Amino acid sequence: MDNLILAAILSMAGLSVAFAAVLAFADKKLRVEEDPRIAEVLKHLPHVNCGACGYLNCHDFAEHVIKEGEDPAKCKPLGEEAQQMLYDYLGKEGKEKFPRIALVHCAAEYEHKKTDTVYTGVKTCIAANAAFGGGMECEYGCMGFGDCVEVCPFGAMHMEKGLPRVDAEKCTGCGKCAEACPRGIISIQQKKYDDLYYVACSSHDDMMRVRKICSVGCIACGICEKLSPEKYFEVKDNLSYPNFEKQSDREELEKIAPKCPTKVIKKA
Ligand code: SF4
Ligand code: SF4
Repeated sequence: MDNLILAAILSMAGLSVAFAAVLAFADKKLRVEEDPRIAEVLKHLPHVNCGACGYLNCHDFAEHVIKEGEDPAKCKPLGEEAQQMLYDYLGKEGKEKFPRIALVHCAAEYEHKKTDTVYTGVKTCIAANAAFGGGMECEYGCMGFGDCVEVCPFGAMHMEKGLPRVDAEKCTGCGKCAEACPRGIISIQQKKYDDLYYVACSSHDDMMRVRKICSVGCIACGICEKLSPEKYFEVKDNLSYPNFEKQSDREELEKIAPKCPTKVIKKA
């Protein structure tokens, strides 16, 4: 009996050694060596796997940079310096890179948000939006449950008085917050100047309705447009849009912004 057990143990051990040898041999023969340049590119990436580049993760992106010639600038959180180092490494001409920042196009804090019903559902923006906008009268404004804050991989947002605030030092412009906002009130812009002038409203309601339900919304009065023949601002569909490409005349913008009757032109 003892001999039988010993024989079984020895044969199992022998089989294990044989399998291990076969696996080691197969690994050596079949292994596809990864291009070492992928690891080199990966070293410069931020390793947050945010997916803002459109690829699965940073490694997948690095692979595409090497194998398909993908542009490193597609990595939104990539810093200016790291981007330049990558361009140098790849021997590519780099495009000028400006920092990107998230802008919240709503200025309604708790005191400004008017509701017509009390919302008692799940406390997320996506749920509230699906449930008749969580009872908010403004169907365009921020609902204030912070879905955007939750998804920011860089901790660059926090809620204050019912509105998300962006920490410019931490924001990489990855766009995760904009994707998460069910009302589409966050935009990502290139910061070519120290400050960007933007309109903190997304409402397409007409002047009468905005006046009735929000004291800090754009009433589409057109003053900003009239004061800027260079078209720094343009009013379309009851909302003023700044032209982010035309913000070099700082003095002029500095004069126009305070003329907005609801002070909805802000700087970020
Ligand atoms: S605030 Fe938005 S754009 Fe900025 S880092 Fe966070 S998720 Fe990205
Ligand atoms: S900006 Fe959008 S996602 Fe963020 S709190 Fe407001 S409604 Fe919610």
